[in-house]
Amino acid sequence: AMTTRMPLIAGNWKMNLDHLQAVAFVQKLHWTLKDAGHDHSTVEVAVFPPFTDLRTVQTLLDADKIPFALGAQDLSTHDSGAYTGEISGAFLSKLDVRYVIIGHSERREYHAEGDDVVAAKVQAALRHGLVPVICVGETSEDLEKFGASAVPVSQLRAALDGVAADADIVVAYEPVWAIGSGQAATPEQAQDVCAKLRDVVAEALDADAAARTRVLYGGSVKAANIAGFMREPDVDGALVGGASLLVDEFSSIIRFQK
Ligand code: PGA
Repeated sequence: AMTTRMPLIAGNWKMNLDHLQAVAFVQKLHWTLKDAGHDHSTVEVAVFPPFTDLRTVQTLLDADKIPFALGAQDLSTHDSGAYTGEISGAFLSKLDVRYVIIGHSERREYHAEGDDVVAAKVQAALRHGLVPVICVGETSEDLEKFGASAVPVSQLRAALDGVAADADIVVAYEPVWAIGSGQAATPEQAQDVCAKLRDVVAEALDADAAARTRVLYGGSVKAANIAGFMREPDVDGALVGGASLLVDEFSSIIRFQK
């Protein structure tokens, strides 16, 4: 059966925008899309602010009926207890957080998060009804040694170990060499790896899961290159870093035309 996947444009703010700046940004983005006559039924928009902004942004989305989904950038592998500085998925669910980024290359690199931690965080997200946005991608060294797909495929296999076939997940292919570098992958490169990642979802979960799961591309996505990615059959959206902090740029990405 044909499954049509709702495109997802996700803005990973990383460690940017305090809670006051977050309010101004979300309001501006909403008004800009409204002025442009954007049709929210055609694409899902999600914003991923820092933890300290989540309550404020959630209240704003709710009060002003702004149709953006809310995401967090990380969560604990634990549910509660003596884990100083950690944030439970239970707390995120209570805040109407829908998505949580897991396995971002900056967590893998600066916080030594390996495939085991990533898999435990995926389980924690699913336990609390959150949708994990599972990030995978090869470094430029990996690319030279193993080609583009070997590392992301193996990272995704590890992350999906023990995940139920009916789980709601999102996969993001983010070549590490493309993140924040201004050097995006080509649409053809992204399509090739995203198709292989969809095959991994089929093997680890099942064919239905592979047909409904959104596979995103991330790494130097901007208004000028989004359309090329969205034209590819296995690219269902984008995880956007730097360009998600610029109202006009991000709204143009959201309003991509194939
Ligand atoms: P970038 O970041 O869009 O700034 O390259 C993408 C990401 O890290 O998710």
